[in-house]
Amino acid sequence: MSSDKNMSQKRKDYLEWPDYFMSIAFLSAQRSKDPRTQVGACIVNEENKIVGIGYNGMPSGCSDDILPWRKEAENILDTKQLYVCHAELNAVLNKNSADVKNCTIYVALFPCNECAKVIIQSGIKEVVYYSDKYFDKPEFQASKRMMDLAGVKYRKHIPKRSKIMIDFSVIDNLVTNCTVPEIDALILNGDGVVEH
Ligand SMILES: [Zn+2]
Repeated sequence: MSSDKNMSQKRKDYLEWPDYFMSIAFLSAQRSKDPRTQVGACIVNEENKIVGIGYNGMPSGCSDDILPWRKEAENILDTKQLYVCHAELNAVLNKNSADVKNCTIYVALFPCNECAKVIIQSGIKEVVYYSDKYFDKPEFQASKRMMDLAGVKYRKHIPKRSKIMIDFSVIDNLVTNCTVPEIDALILNGDGVVEH
């Protein structure tokens, strides 16, 4: 329904930087093999350039068909805790720049204490998170304690939109009045954050 007038002006409903970066964190989470928790992270430098992306997974070379994915077991060796690399760690290690000093990290879930150490030591100055649902657990209290001491700022992301749909067919103008097949579209929804 675009008139010529609309087409001569800048689009108003473009995706703004913070929603864009948080969406990339959520999209990356879709790569995770973890049956319970899928978390993504996106590191951005002071020029709004993405310098690192990660999601939770087993260490490189360690088959994710062999190592356990369960959260609880009689023997801790049979749980994922001892093996899984969290999204924040992977995003820092995957960086394509010399370092991540003064960068901001966008994460779906507030970082745990282990990731807080990585964030602090890598020089990241700000954490933008979507959910802080485990705020009362010791790992997350310790995380805040360290970040407060180290001067790493953290703030909750307030999205401009609660859902973003990626519809591959739009590029060919295939969307008319018909329903888009589910397989062609990906909806990123903040409510999809599950357990850590
Ligand atoms: Zn963590």
